[in-house]
Amino acid sequence: MNQLQKKSNSNMADLSRSTRMLNNLLLQHYNGMHKLKEKKQPVAWVGVDIPAYLFRAMGIVPVYPQIHAAFQAQRNSVKTMIDNLESRWEIPHNICGEVKGVIGAVLCENGTAFDIPKPDILITSNSTCGQISKGFSFISKHMGVDLIDLDFPFIYNQANEDMLQYASIQIDEMFGILENKIGHKLDVNNLLESYANIQTFSEMWGEICEANIVTPAPVNALDLYMYTSCFLTMDTEDKLLSMLAALYNEVFSQVERNKQIENEEKYRILWHYLPIYSKKRFFKQLFDEHKVSLVTGTYLAMHDELNSPVNFDFHYPVTKEQIENAKLWLKYTKQNETYEQVRKEMIEYTAESMLMSDVHRGGQHKFNQIKKMVEKYRIDGVILHNDRSCRPQSLPQYDIRSRILEELKVPVLLFDSDTMDERYFSESQITTRFEAFIERMALNKGF
Ligand code: SF4
Repeated sequence: MNQLQKKSNSNMADLSRSTRMLNNLLLQHYNGMHKLKEKKQPVAWVGVDIPAYLFRAMGIVPVYPQIHAAFQAQRNSVKTMIDNLESRWEIPHNICGEVKGVIGAVLCENGTAFDIPKPDILITSNSTCGQISKGFSFISKHMGVDLIDLDFPFIYNQANEDMLQYASIQIDEMFGILENKIGHKLDVNNLLESYANIQTFSEMWGEICEANIVTPAPVNALDLYMYTSCFLTMDTEDKLLSMLAALYNEVFSQVERNKQIENEEKYRILWHYLPIYSKKRFFKQLFDEHKVSLVTGTYLAMHDELNSPVNFDFHYPVTKEQIENAKLWLKYTKQNETYEQVRKEMIEYTAESMLMSDVHRGGQHKFNQIKKMVEKYRIDGVILHNDRSCRPQSLPQYDIRSRILEELKVPVLLFDSDTMDERYFSESQITTRFEAFIERMALNKGF
């Protein structure tokens, strides 16, 4: 955060230390992928729903082309890639931008528009929609690389036993195929280590997000989205936990500071669905100008679905010792289990967390989650992002809007855009609509 932004909202934490650590980790991660490929470690391109720890435990390098595409959407090379796909390859403009990112990483002349190693195997699922399966299937044929395509049911409310079993069997079969490919069994100790790190990570992450329950909010949720890049893609190793501890301490030191300084916050809002990473600066300025705190977002709360078996409370300042204690506790719960038990539990845990993830579930679940968050964070207004890149996720947005207005009596700003394609974004139009949204919130609050 620069000096200008700090001045405009002094209630918000300065995240410069953890941001620097995150950037260094991302750099090491990208460089590391290439080095591992050079050392002949197999590379899997993986659909965004399937967690990385499964592959790391097998010595396979997981690469998420959708995430790389989304995070680099504003780069000129990615824009050129999308133009190229539409004009030269006649890929229809209305297919998902992330899928275009995956296909473009293979078809376009500049090789990968975002620099990722080529795959030895492709793994995806249709748990969110069929587009990504189609995209992976296309590149599998084009490159002659094997594809594992998991078939997952849609979940409207809760996953039942049959659904969990159906998904677990497929994950088990996937392990079998991969073990054959790499010539050895899955390393359960590795898997447990990752599991303990992931649970520790998500416990700490949950507390960071919930710091914004207090008024004024100590952190801009737009900044928090950047940290979600590492959940799936990166190894949840100790360095990542240290980076998160730095973020935790930055946020909670601001909570302490806010007790001594003036509260500048006028409105508290929630963002449903993905942010537009390339427009982060634009939205931050808009929020600061109107003294709006973006307090939370449904996408930030996805780790709530991981159903951690432990409720470990961290406290400010988080130390290495607290992190080690949380990890030990988690490992201790599994120490007497056999290889087969741990393997089975990890498969079931993965199947459940994949099935129950918010993105895969129906409109009723999404509305319930928004309702819960509106109450918990005392939200004055909700932004619904209708992402043209993701039609399945955008389809229920109009119903959700009606229910928020009618049942929660909270103003809503719904707008169309595209996380991947800037052609669908107009700053002036959004500014005008945002100002009308502010007026509705002001009226509601009696200002
Ligand atoms: S359309 Fe949406 S759910 Fe489907 S692949 Fe694209 S981003 Fe994912």
